[in-house]
Amino acid sequence: MALDPPAPFELSTAMLQGVEIVGVPIPQDAVLVAGIVTLVALVVLSAFFSSSEIAMFSLPAHRTEALVEDAVPGAKTLKQLKSDPHRLLVTILVGNNLVNIAMSSIATGLLAMYVDSQGLAVAIATFGVTAIVLLFGESAPKSYAVENTESWALRISKPLKAAEKVLLPLILLFDYLTRVVNKITGGRSAIETSYVTREEIQDIIETGEREGVLDEDEREMLQRTLRFNDTIAKEVMTPRLDMTAVAKDASAEEALETCIQSGHARIPVYEGSLDNVIGVIHIRDLVRDLNYGEALARDMELEDLIEPTLHVPESKNVDDLLTEMRAERLHMVIVIDEFGTTEGLVTMEDLTEEIVGEILEGEEEEPIEYVDDDTVTVKGEVNIEEVNEALDLDLPEGEEFETIAGFIFNRAGRLVEEGETITYDGVEIRVEQVENTRIMKARVVRLETDETEPVDAEEASD
Ligand code: ADP
Repeated sequence: MALDPPAPFELSTAMLQGVEIVGVPIPQDAVLVAGIVTLVALVVLSAFFSSSEIAMFSLPAHRTEALVEDAVPGAKTLKQLKSDPHRLLVTILVGNNLVNIAMSSIATGLLAMYVDSQGLAVAIATFGVTAIVLLFGESAPKSYAVENTESWALRISKPLKAAEKVLLPLILLFDYLTRVVNKITGGRSAIETSYVTREEIQDIIETGEREGVLDEDEREMLQRTLRFNDTIAKEVMTPRLDMTAVAKDASAEEALETCIQSGHARIPVYEGSLDNVIGVIHIRDLVRDLNYGEALARDMELEDLIEPTLHVPESKNVDDLLTEMRAERLHMVIVIDEFGTTEGLVTMEDLTEEIVGEILEGEEEEPIEYVDDDTVTVKGEVNIEEVNEALDLDLPEGEEFETIAGFIFNRAGRLVEEGETITYDGVEIRVEQVENTRIMKARVVRLETDETEPVDAEEASD
C-alpha cells in the first residue's frame, strides 16, 4: 500500500501548532519528545513485569526458603510475594497490561499528530507497539529471566513490592474480580495449584538420568525414596517362619547360642508362644553380662536384659514406622496381623534397604539374579513389584499376597511342588526350590511376545 508521506511544510506547521494541555499550549516537538521518553519508559516497565512473571513463578519454593535462610538481600520480600501467588500474578498482570495498553494509546496519539488518517495511525501504532512489546517487552526479558531466575527474582522483588503498593486499588479490585470469575468458570486458577506433582518429580528424575545429570544409582535411590511412602510393613518384614526368637525362660547362654547360630545380633523374646513377644535382647548385652557381669551365668535372668519393642500392624506405612522407630530409638519391631498374631519382624536395616537397595551380608544370595535378559531366578519372598521391575512385567499384586511365592500359590490354588510351572499373561514361572511347603526359589521367564518378528530373509523370498 502506498503511503503519502506528510509534506515537510505541513509537518513544521503542525509542530508549531502543538497541543493544549489544561489550557496551556505545548509545542508539538515537546509533546513528541515527552511521548517518546514515556514510550521508552513503558517498554522498560513492560520488560520488568514480563520478566518478573517468569522469574517469580519458576523459582522453586525450596530455593526461596534457602535464600531466606542464607539471609540473602531481597529474599524476605521474595518469600512474602510468593506466599500469595494469586495476588502476585494479579499484580504482574495488572502492571503489564496497564503499561502495554498505555503504550499503544500514547503511540496512537503521537502518530495521529503526524498522520492525517486516523485509521492509519491506529494501524501503525498497533503493529509498531506489538512488535516493540513482543521483542523488547516480552521475548528478550523473558529469555533473560529464564537464564537468571534466581538473581533476577531477588533483584526485582523490592520494585515489584513497590509496584504492588502503587497499583493497590487496581490490584485489590482485580484480585477480587479474578477470584469471582475463576469461581464461575469452575475451579481454581492454575497458579494456585501445586507447582510440582510426584509424577513430575519422577519424570525429572528419569530425564535427569537420560541427560547424564544423575547416574543410575542415584536415580534408583531417588525413585525408591519416592516409593517409600507407598510401602507397608508387611512388604519389608522378615516373615515369622524366618524369625529367630528365644523363650523368656531360656538361659542367657542359650540365648547367646541362638544369636550366634542364627547370625543375628538381636532376637525377640517371647513368653509362651511367638505370638506373645515381650521384647528384644541384644547379643552385646548377653556377652557383656556373661563375661564381664558380676552375677554368675546361671543366676542371670534373661528378663533383665530385655529391651522394649513395638507391635505394629502389617498395614503400617514404612515411612511412619521409620519415624516412630527413630523417635523411640528402636531397631527391631514386631509385625502383627489383625488378630494380634505375630507375622514377622522389621529392623532398621529392612527399612534402610527400601531406600538404598539390598544390603547383602556374607554368603547371602542376591534376591533376584539374571540368567539372561528375559529370565531371572528370584527368592520366593521377593515382592512382585520388584520382579515386575526387573523384567518389565505386569504381574498383579493381590490383597492377600505381596511376594512371588504368594502369587504362585494364588494362581495354583494349592500347595506346589518343585518343577511345577505356571504361565500367566506371557510370563512363565517355574518353581525351582520348595522347602516343606514353602517356595524358596522360582525362575521367571518373559516369554516371546506375539509382536511381528523381523521376517527372515530366506522365508520372505519363498
Ligand atoms: P543382623 O545384622 O543382626 O542380622 P539387621 O538389623 O542388620 O540385623 O538385619 C538384617 C536382616 O536380618 C533383616 O532383614 C532383618 O529383618 C533380619 N533379622 C534381624 N534379626 C533377626 C531375627 N532375630 N530373626 C530373623 N531375622 C532377623
